[in-house]
Amino acid sequence: MRVPFIDLAVSSRGIQEEIRKAVNRVLDSQRFILDGSVAALEEKIARDVGAKYAVGTASGSDALYLSLLALGVGAGDEVITTPFTFFATAGAVSRTGARPVFVDIDPHTFNLNPSLVEERINRKTKAIVPVHLFGLLCEMDSILRIARRHSLLIVEDAAQAYGAGYRGKKAGSWGDAGCFSFYPTKNLGGAGDGGMVVTSSAGLARKLKLLRDHGSARKYHHEEIGVNSRLDELQAAVLLVKLKYLKEWNEKRRFCASVYGEGLKDSPLQIPKSPAGNRHVYHLYSILSKKRDALARFLAGEGIGTGIYYPLPLHLQPCYRSLGGKKGDFPVAERTTSQILSLPMYPGLAERDVRFVMSKVHEFCDGRADGHRFSAGV
Ligand SMILES: *Cc1c(COP(=O)(O)O)cnc(C)c1O
Repeated sequence: MRVPFIDLAVSSRGIQEEIRKAVNRVLDSQRFILDGSVAALEEKIARDVGAKYAVGTASGSDALYLSLLALGVGAGDEVITTPFTFFATAGAVSRTGARPVFVDIDPHTFNLNPSLVEERINRKTKAIVPVHLFGLLCEMDSILRIARRHSLLIVEDAAQAYGAGYRGKKAGSWGDAGCFSFYPTKNLGGAGDGGMVVTSSAGLARKLKLLRDHGSARKYHHEEIGVNSRLDELQAAVLLVKLKYLKEWNEKRRFCASVYGEGLKDSPLQIPKSPAGNRHVYHLYSILSKKRDALARFLAGEGIGTGIYYPLPLHLQPCYRSLGGKKGDFPVAERTTSQILSLPMYPGLAERDVRFVMSKVHEFCDGRADGHRFSAGV
């Protein structure tokens, strides 16, 4: 038996024909840029998330960058975010000319720890970028309270959290802007790159539409210096089909997580926590193990794929040496990078696959896994 870390084919199998038809409609129309499919997807996503407007972009990274740019974040500003995220979160801040300021994470949710945010706020602080990592929302009520108290903007990085919610309000609908990625492995993934910003501000939506299209609302008349970062029609057509199945796919992820959770709750591993009021959509199912590397090697030998998200926190990345970060600055994030391991998680994962993975994890934890190469415990 083999369980790959990710297998997107299983969930797409039943809808390949529907996707091909949608793609063919775009090919036949020969209208590839900002046409009906993008507009239809923007409208559906805005409604689904609970925001008034949505603006498609070329990637999730650009959704973040353009949101910050449109909100006036730039040189001389500081933006608070987490060091434990995909690089694009901080990269988007840097691209505007602003400086990312990191705040350590909560050891159980892996999200920005709100109680550490205020001590990093100063006159230069302009915005907070909370990242809903692995599909779990940050403590948005606390973060919103802090932002209001200090008049800060909020741009949610909801790249991993499409469909997730907190107290009945969806990821992306909490901040001034919410950003999604349609990178193929994301919960709502396209057949290439794509992204979207949602907002309830008409002014911001208009500005985003300008900026993604060279600052131009009327062809060859440029109000702003924008970029080329449009979502294309082919991606939008694919995403419109996939969006119909997303709820079902997220439910499958949640079911697999509940099977893992039940089976691993008595193991010595730290398993994902979903605090009350949260609807976690398990983009990744990540556990902590003190013997992470040995566990990963053992599972690989048993035909089970795993992943490490993320092996190096952002304050220790070579490209951010200039920010002056050093080992020990964010102890929770640093410890997490050395212990975290993501187990197989995707909508096509069968319950028997989850049970097989768990049986092998238990075998390792109980020390039954070849005592010479792997010692007991975690
Ligand atoms: C995927 C991802 C992004 C970037 O999205 P792309 O579409 O790949 O540019 C940003 N932030 C987080 C947390 C992500 O997981």
